[in-house]
Amino acid sequence: MTPAVIQPGATLGVMGGGQLGRMFVHAAQQMGYFTAVLDPDPDSPAGRVSHHHIATGYEDAAGLARLAAVSAAITTEFENVPATALHSLAATRLVAPGADAVAIAQDRALEKAHFTRCGVACAPYAVIASEAELAAVSAELLPGILKTTRLGYDGKGQVRVQTRDELAAAWRGLKGVACVLEKMLPLAAEISVIVARGRDGACVHFAPQRNVHRDGILAVTEVYEENLPSAPVNASILATKSIANGLNYVGVLCVEYFVLQDGRLVVNEMAPRPHNSGHYTMDACDVSQFDLQVRALAGLPLTPPRQHSPAIMLNLLGDLWFTGGDAPMTPPWPAVLALPGTHLHLYGKVEARRGRKMGHLNITGASVAAVCDTAQRAAALLGLPPF
Ligand code: ADP
Ligand code: MG
Repeated sequence: MTPAVIQPGATLGVMGGGQLGRMFVHAAQQMGYFTAVLDPDPDSPAGRVSHHHIATGYEDAAGLARLAAVSAAITTEFENVPATALHSLAATRLVAPGADAVAIAQDRALEKAHFTRCGVACAPYAVIASEAELAAVSAELLPGILKTTRLGYDGKGQVRVQTRDELAAAWRGLKGVACVLEKMLPLAAEISVIVARGRDGACVHFAPQRNVHRDGILAVTEVYEENLPSAPVNASILATKSIANGLNYVGVLCVEYFVLQDGRLVVNEMAPRPHNSGHYTMDACDVSQFDLQVRALAGLPLTPPRQHSPAIMLNLLGDLWFTGGDAPMTPPWPAVLALPGTHLHLYGKVEARRGRKMGHLNITGASVAAVCDTAQRAAALLGLPPF
């Protein structure tokens, strides 16, 4: 039996040792918890800062047993944690979010069915898992984006297709795995909403974030008043809460949306964990998404977050560690940190690779104009395109 509140001093466990796990570990430790990370990589960003690091595979029975033995409750930091592993942990420990919610978020077809059940509109789509389904696809869905139902992230596992022939070739190129074909929509903006929901059903939210992607990877998140029209903002908050309620979700959930050029809101996908687009909360809000992840897991009260500064986050990918000629370099941190209101977060990854998420830079300030100006200056110093 899990006590109503897991008090500081107990150990909180996390499946996965990436940067999200690392920031969870830091937030938990700040509140006096001990932490345990299960991740096979001995150098994992979270494993290196956790009290316990169990360096086994995610389905290793002995590793899972050790994680359960030391942890009072367990959460996850990436959506592809095998649902079977979460089920086995849940036999003896509180696991939040639950395996069923994670399993839905792992599969685009199940996810879209859940959104539809909750009354939230998706892009028009069809599931393609067989030649018959491929042949039956409506021409209405073209041009479209073919996405594998499982294991896609940062634009991977996706192909843009204009015609039936391209669609057939793309599906075969993806080895005929189960996919969804989504109609390509005219986007005005991409936004995301992060909520935290407790075991008692209480649900709090952060302000919707405006996101800019480059090459399929989040590049910039901007969060300040009047950055987005109010109608989709309000609709996205209500939709996210109904998606979380419908899953009986416990923990932090992020849902991504498209705002279309005609103003309509369309849901894209969800992540059963804190999200890259919520990293600004660490410096711009009175509680961060990781603080709320700790609170939700421990059964502590979830207070509505208050954003105390306009914020922009710049993602720092491994490309910044290379010159145009591919020689290794160190980004100009002293010059960046000379700009007031810059907060550098690096994840302690040993090796920089192009496209790898190495850290992020949060920018806060007294006014939207100051934050935008500082963010553009920081981007220029780092060699990032203006936004
Ligand atoms: P990932 O799991 O890689 O984040 P997404 O489904 O979010 O995959 O797609 C990546 C990006 O591709 C989105 O952020 C958006 O810019 C673009 N995109 C995805 N689906 C559509 C769509 N139906 N219409 C237009 N653009 C889309
Ligand atoms: Mg996405």
